Amino acid sequence: MMTTTHTALAHVAPASIAAPRSISIFGATGSVGASTLDLVRLDPGAYRVVALTAQTQATELAALAREFSAEVAVIGDPAQHQALAAALAGTKTQVWSGPQGLLDAADLDADWTMAAIVGCAGLAPIMRSLLRGRCVALANKEALVSAGALMIEAAHTSGATLLPVDSEHNAIFQCLAGGRIDEVESITLTASGGPFRQWTLDQMRVAGPEQAVAHPNWSMGAKISVDSATMFNKGLELIEAHHLFPVGLENIRILVHPQSVIHSMVEYRDRSTLAQLGAPDMRIPIASALGWPRRIVTNCAPLDLATIGQLTFEPLDDVRFPGPGICRAAIAAGGGAPAILNAANEIAVSAFLGKRIGFLDIAAIVSQVLARYSPSAPQSLQDVLGIDAEARAEARCIIEAKD
Ligand code: NAD
Ligand code: MG
Repeated sequence: MMTTTHTALAHVAPASIAAPRSISIFGATGSVGASTLDLVRLDPGAYRVVALTAQTQATELAALAREFSAEVAVIGDPAQHQALAAALAGTKTQVWSGPQGLLDAADLDADWTMAAIVGCAGLAPIMRSLLRGRCVALANKEALVSAGALMIEAAHTSGATLLPVDSEHNAIFQCLAGGRIDEVESITLTASGGPFRQWTLDQMRVAGPEQAVAHPNWSMGAKISVDSATMFNKGLELIEAHHLFPVGLENIRILVHPQSVIHSMVEYRDRSTLAQLGAPDMRIPIASALGWPRRIVTNCAPLDLATIGQLTFEPLDDVRFPGPGICRAAIAAGGGAPAILNAANEIAVSAFLGKRIGFLDIAAIVSQVLARYSPSAPQSLQDVLGIDAEARAEARCIIEAKD
């Protein structure tokens, strides 16, 4: 039987965690991967590291595999296989590579898997872990945006557990403890507003990557930092929430909260609202998933509300930030629209980071691709990957025409 995120805490009694807990980390060299390994470093005897993966950073991956005595290290880019093998010579770590290597790593037995690859590239290994009935801590929101229904169905069929790691969804998960999803009136996703919260459209039009990745509260990878600046991140999170917490799309709201202290809220039908608070440090939601269903000790800073002083809130400006509205329309349309949206956004963000397009072009390109291409609803992982590839090609065409 599946342990869904929204019903899990109603019936799972806090049990002792088998020690050491075997863990795999997909995207180990990234921001979320590093935060996860920081937590493992605090209590190394509590974990046995099965697999660590990265796309191109062979040297960094080898150093982590050595430090944590990983059983397997997987490099996504096959061209880096030799470099990784050389860097791990003399160790017991097996070296695998390429998309098949990632799938094989997902096949390995692990009590807990962190899905922290960025983008739809992480979808196939996550699906494999879910089909194997694993406990998957999900940071990789793009996978859920592109293939949410299929992922939830795979988890139901196999009895897998999905633990939300995105800070907002982890907050909602925590606020649902002891409650029931059918007693929820609404969910509020909080948003910092990103680095351009107070910028005019004219200022945003000429904004470059250095300004877009300078998030005021969170330290994150480049792609999600740009998503936070466009606020597509909040739109992707709206779709993520819709799949994880089925309370009806119209009951999922977005509220700008610049201090990033309240990570999200759940309003119950008796009008009692629960919120989860904490410093803006990803190690806190990751620790919640890593220890689940228990609480583990972290060395994160305690929340000091007296120093913070004020928590403020404001509505989302959907004229300057059309991203969340585009995402809401895409998930309402259903079918292949969310996968198209995600693919177009990934290509547009990468073109923006490469200084090929302007900041405001990102939302325009996503809208154009969504308008041009309307496939039927994906029925399988292959269907989603096909839609993803076609939408990427469309987005690239639009960008090339601009050059
Ligand atoms: P990042 O760019 O810092 O790291 C990405 C990781 O994925 C790296 O290990 C990289 O080697 C690997 N990778 C990249 N492309 C790959 C590919 N094609 N195939 C296989 N591996 C690949 O990203 P991040 O900021 O750690 O974010 C990871 C995921 O977590 C994203 O989906 C993001 O939206 C989500 N997330 C991140 C944060 C955060 O604070 N960073 C918060 C919430 C959710
Ligand atoms: Mg988030």
